[in-house]
Amino acid sequence: MHLTMLGTGSASVKNCYNTCFVFTENGQNFLVDAGGGNQILKILDDENISVTDLEHIFITHSHTDHILGAVWLVRMIGQAINYDGCDKQFNIYCHDEAAEALKAICCATLPQSVTKHFGGQLKLNILEDGDRYSILGCEVEFFDILSDKTKQFGFIMDIGGKKLACCGDEPLQMALCEKLCGCSWLMHEAFCLYSERDIFKPYQKFHSTVKDACETAQKLGAENLILYHTEDTHGKNRKTLYAAEGKQYYSGKLYIPDDGEKVIL
Ligand SMILES: [Zn+2]
Repeated sequence: MHLTMLGTGSASVKNCYNTCFVFTENGQNFLVDAGGGNQILKILDDENISVTDLEHIFITHSHTDHILGAVWLVRMIGQAINYDGCDKQFNIYCHDEAAEALKAICCATLPQSVTKHFGGQLKLNILEDGDRYSILGCEVEFFDILSDKTKQFGFIMDIGGKKLACCGDEPLQMALCEKLCGCSWLMHEAFCLYSERDIFKPYQKFHSTVKDACETAQKLGAENLILYHTEDTHGKNRKTLYAAEGKQYYSGKLYIPDDGEKVIL
């Protein structure tokens, strides 16, 4: 199983793509979010992933930087069904509000010949807190991250007995710490450096700093921490700067991937 970070940026980045990533095992893919637009198509192309190989797509919530790329995927998948004879079943997983948003945007902007596949080959699996599915041969439990802002789900994936937890794009709530305690892999947002909190104002935007995410991972006893959903002003120096701050608060293995980077799980 490996993870490819297709995008690592927060909503308004210009120098990288919005946070989205794909798990791949034996040629099967599980995509998490799709970023904010058409660029997802080029990014998938660069990774040699065909949209018709995305049989499992999870959308965490309905914000632009996560859901709008999925509209393009629906379009391309619909066209593959209509014109290329694609007979695969595609599963989109999301909670009710994200499903309503996705359907509404798609129905307003895509032809009916595409949107008619919702409920057919494009199955919308509406998630409730605690729902479990088997994806890529792993049990995936979806959970409500208890956002104060917009309803959002994360997930815990059991990869051969090791737990990978993804907390979405907001700080992990205290009430969920017990659930995620002892996970091998923690995927957590880090909007910016703590030392730059006055510049980027993460707390007003319901986001964490590198320090905050690292303290959470340390508390949970996570062996590995992957940071994402960051600002994009530091370019190539981001890894060095974030690692220097992070290692003061976290003793596990810290990953600060750039767009396109892969992690073996
Ligand atoms: Zn976001």
